[in-house]
Amino acid sequence: MARYTSLEQIQTAIAEHELSCEELVQYYLQQIEATAHLNIYVEVYAEEALSRARALDERYQQSPAEVGALFGMVLSHKDVICYQGHGVSAGSKILQGFESPYSATAVERLLAEDAIIIGRVNCDEFAMGSSNETSHFGPTRNAADPERVPGGSSGGSAVAVQADTCLASLGSDTGGSVRQPASFCGVVGLKPTYGRISRYGLLAYGSSFDQIGILSHSVADAAQLLQIMAGSDPQDATCSKNPVPAYSETQAEAKPRRIAYFPEVLQHRSLQPEVKAACEQTIAKLQEQGHTIEAASFDLLDYLIPAYYVLTTAEASSNLSRYDGIRYGYRSGNATDLLSTYKKSRTEGFGTEVKRRIMLGTFVLSAGYYDAYYTKAQKVRRLIKQQTDELFRNFDFLLMPAAPTTAWKLGDKMEDPVEMYLADIFTVQANMTGIPAICLPVAEDQAGLPIGIQLMSDKFAEEQLISMAAALEEVVRRPNL
Ligand code: GLN
Repeated sequence: MARYTSLEQIQTAIAEHELSCEELVQYYLQQIEATAHLNIYVEVYAEEALSRARALDERYQQSPAEVGALFGMVLSHKDVICYQGHGVSAGSKILQGFESPYSATAVERLLAEDAIIIGRVNCDEFAMGSSNETSHFGPTRNAADPERVPGGSSGGSAVAVQADTCLASLGSDTGGSVRQPASFCGVVGLKPTYGRISRYGLLAYGSSFDQIGILSHSVADAAQLLQIMAGSDPQDATCSKNPVPAYSETQAEAKPRRIAYFPEVLQHRSLQPEVKAACEQTIAKLQEQGHTIEAASFDLLDYLIPAYYVLTTAEASSNLSRYDGIRYGYRSGNATDLLSTYKKSRTEGFGTEVKRRIMLGTFVLSAGYYDAYYTKAQKVRRLIKQQTDELFRNFDFLLMPAAPTTAWKLGDKMEDPVEMYLADIFTVQANMTGIPAICLPVAEDQAGLPIGIQLMSDKFAEEQLISMAAALEEVVRRPNL
């Protein structure tokens, strides 16, 4: 059980002189040591976090009103988000020894509000995976059962929060990488609308899908962090200029709302019975609260994964061409000329899954197959978007499990990439369409493994989404939350 589950608790404890930032960082550093077997951190910024904490304590003593909104917020960041002067490697050998020359806009905004960053956490290589097993640094393990995966690709971020090594963590979500690990680890996972948070300083995987997200214990903390990171950024042309509402002041939803679910999902062949039961219980609880829950039809479910994997591998093959052994990180020692430097560095630097995706992406973009795969997948994306837009004309929210199952055993899906890809069936819709989605822990299966439920809303409706999630959090609150 986590000692602190919200920033509010920490700020109150500090205000009542029961805690200092330094003690808090020390506590988290001990937790990091005690959970070393889970392989959460790629790098711990122990000394730096402690000295920042001391400086913040001093500033607070002199003038409590002078500290930022995130005073007392101890964060970790996924190994795909840049923090100036610190390593970033995307869980890959190819970025060995590389240091970020600048910070992601999201990171800068958090630091400006006095957050403390305690370390960089493990993830699937270039965020490609659903189990954290493709990392060059080995898998992170689920704290609920270390023989099981934490989900992916932001598995390190989810376990960092689950195992109480920091209060919240930054992840990234291209096809579910914040929500699926949140579901597997029993924490909150928020993927905002595409373009809500600047992608500047986020290592690109699928640029039209990628979005920085948040893993935390509470909806309130996710809302607070979103408020600070969101908003336009001249460094990212795809970042929205929409004004940023005061997400942190959002109250739990009191008005009755219209919520849709897809019967195709609840009857899906891949759904674990306990996950289905958790969904049905959540629906019943929402009905008790006065919300209307109705079945809506969606006949594109089986097209989500194929279209997603065509489009994201295409984008990835282009994005990852920059890792050439010349400009960044790892360079093969066996190369003899320019071409062999490219070939050998990439062959030795990238792992199997990343190579598979670069090849697949290159194939779907090749002259002879472009129309058959890439153009077709774009058309499917458009249809999915149209149906989703239509849905939100009639409903406020869409409810779905975050994943068909709870966490599986390490190694279980590594031999069959397609089976691994199918684990993303319920999360990719939000990325295909750009809408925001939040995953909340609602139950556990018979083995005691967490089950998460996902709520989605129309694009840029984060305020409503947060407010509905806060209401749901109240009804499903488990003893340890
Ligand atoms: N598991 C999905 C993939 O491998 C999603 C990854 C992500 O969201 N970064 O592409």
